Amino acid sequence: MRILLCLLLLLMPIHHKSFASNKAMTDEESYIKRMELYKRVEVVTNIPWYYIAAVDHYERSIRSVRNDLPKTNGITGIYFKPVVWTGYLNPDRNDTHPLSIQLFNGIGIDGNGDGKASIYDDADILFSFANHILNYGVDEDHFKIALWEYYKRDKTVSIILEKAKLYKHFGRLDLNHKTFPMPRGYNFTYHNTWGAARGWGGRRIHEGTDIFAGYGVPVRSTSYGIVEMKGWNRFGGWRVGIRDINNTYHYYAHLNGFSKKLKVGQIVEPGTLIGSVGSTGYGPPGTSGKFPPHLHYGMYKDNGRTEWSFDPYPYLKQWERLDRIRASKK
Ligand SMILES: [Zn+2]
Repeated sequence: MRILLCLLLLLMPIHHKSFASNKAMTDEESYIKRMELYKRVEVVTNIPWYYIAAVDHYERSIRSVRNDLPKTNGITGIYFKPVVWTGYLNPDRNDTHPLSIQLFNGIGIDGNGDGKASIYDDADILFSFANHILNYGVDEDHFKIALWEYYKRDKTVSIILEKAKLYKHFGRLDLNHKTFPMPRGYNFTYHNTWGAARGWGGRRIHEGTDIFAGYGVPVRSTSYGIVEMKGWNRFGGWRVGIRDINNTYHYYAHLNGFSKKLKVGQIVEPGTLIGSVGSTGYGPPGTSGKFPPHLHYGMYKDNGRTEWSFDPYPYLKQWERLDRIRASKK
């Protein structure tokens, strides 16, 4: 497979551009550039673009929240340690010769046809990861094995597969749009109670924001994402967990009930109905009324090793404001 890919790359037209120095690129431009690269990898390798996109964005997301990984400087997000790129026994940690890297079993290959396998080149980076996948196969089962062999973490594998599913479904990379969990026109109140000792439904301390509203007020997904969890928990009552494209897990608790169609594994969009406000929790399934009705909304971030909660309050404020601006433009 490796040799085959090298041959294919030699046949590729060379229109290499490095985007590393282009800092002024807008989000929209970077989505276009990324998609171009993913599609190029797909044409050469038969690996669906959304698999490459999912790995690339997974790594971009963890790099944005990890201090032990360098920040991205190109348009790709995947990071290879020099030792992985050049090969463990390679004496030259800056090796860019495709043949000697191959000899030392490094992962780096020349993806843009310039004769070098550069750890700083976007095409080289993506084709190198693609080449790792090709050692296993391009269908979902083999892709999964390739991910497991590379990351050795179940959660990472499942998060990347979810991302691939989202990209495939929507056919685009920009899935960042958000909305407030409750539609406009309903009464609700919430305050910044992050970390407060008194509160309902957090996993440990009060991890989230309580949005008080009447029974039955619709609760909607704030993001694009996939339903990872739906069910009862003693503290959270009826609750739903949705993971978005940036490894953020959105947690909705104390629901009165779920939207009829809602299933684990389902793809949702900002505004998809997931249930309604209630006061369930603090007892066996079905217990309710131990506190005033409200939505407990939590946000958790996975960084490739662990998941922690962060304060959703500023985000809720921002989404509420954006919803108001959008409504006023209509
Ligand atoms: Zn709460």
